[in-house]
Amino acid sequence: MSKKDIVSLNFEELCEEFKELGLPKFRATQVYDWLHKKCVSSFEDMTNISKDMIRFLSDNFVIFSCTIEKKLVSQYDNTVKYLFTLPDGEYLECVVMDYKYGHTICVSTQVGCKMGCAFCASGIGGFKRHLAPSEILGQIYAAQRDLSLRISRIVLMGMGEPLDNYDNVMKFLSLVSDEKGLNIGMRHISLSTSGIVPRIYDLLDKNLQLTLSVSLHAPNDEIRSKIMPVNNKWGVDELLKACKLYGDKTSRRISFEYAMMKGVNDTPECAKELALKLKGILCHINLIPANEVAEKSHKRSADSDIESFKKILEKYGHTVTIRRTLGSDINASCGQLRREKIKEDNNNK
Ligand code: SAH
Ligand code: SF4
Repeated sequence: MSKKDIVSLNFEELCEEFKELGLPKFRATQVYDWLHKKCVSSFEDMTNISKDMIRFLSDNFVIFSCTIEKKLVSQYDNTVKYLFTLPDGEYLECVVMDYKYGHTICVSTQVGCKMGCAFCASGIGGFKRHLAPSEILGQIYAAQRDLSLRISRIVLMGMGEPLDNYDNVMKFLSLVSDEKGLNIGMRHISLSTSGIVPRIYDLLDKNLQLTLSVSLHAPNDEIRSKIMPVNNKWGVDELLKACKLYGDKTSRRISFEYAMMKGVNDTPECAKELALKLKGILCHINLIPANEVAEKSHKRSADSDIESFKKILEKYGHTVTIRRTLGSDINASCGQLRREKIKEDNNNK
């Protein structure tokens, strides 16, 4: 019989499992606390539990935990980037950023990605597999243990498309916001999507207070379909319709991500078209100087073009920021460290 992934169970499910094994409820309370508040990575670390009980738990359950393969710390701004190894040998990335209001972690939700965006390193080599709730949580727990700090904000902006791993991501959100666990409020969580429209409607129905980030990157179908294949399925107007409804229903400001790529999406005409398209949507526009990726052809827009783009959007009344590049010395954008490691492994074969 295979062992159960104990970290992916919520408190009720753990109580149920323990009941079936003949264990009292207070044991579930203790174990849940060790797993999700103290974030231990082994049953042996549960010091108020007897040796016999630890053996019994180890026979029935497994604690998923991320092993640190590589850790890079930025000399400029304390950004820390991890490359983790999973038990099946896959690699995973996550980044911890040190902001003035606390530590934010950027977690991955899949190994690889199916979406195939032209500018992104995460999708190179395709999709490997979904991450379990415990594997998404595991990134946070491993970073907290390693850095001896508490994470206060989460962004689901690492490798993978969160809404393509919908059920596991929803379970992760309920576990991480659980009062009996890390208790990180939904208002401190952002989920970024390339625009899987039906799942945005599903999210809307849940009425969660999390921030939705939408990777728009283009003002029209012509440009967007060239750089984001997902746009062939759900076009810009269909996506923006869902976004408007999301803003209206939740009263939460949507964040539109726009990676500025030289000669692709950064002209004044694009800015004007974008400004008009987003009119009437409760939103914030985040301009990101695109990261250049070795295997990809796009180039980052000039700073002066990004500034002009921002001014045009502001002239139309939009709130715009240019994202600060954190950890620029450690290749902090997701997907790149994993790519390097896979190349290194192939060379050593
Ligand atoms: N799959 C989700 C979340 C992960 S990607 C999504 O696409 O939204 C996180 C963000 O990084 C997205 O906004 C994505 O478009 C952006 N991104 C990917 N590659 C990039 C690059 N080379 N330069 C700048 N932003 C990039
Ligand atoms: Fe996947 Fe997001 Fe990268 Fe697109 S940008 S390939 S959706 S991770």
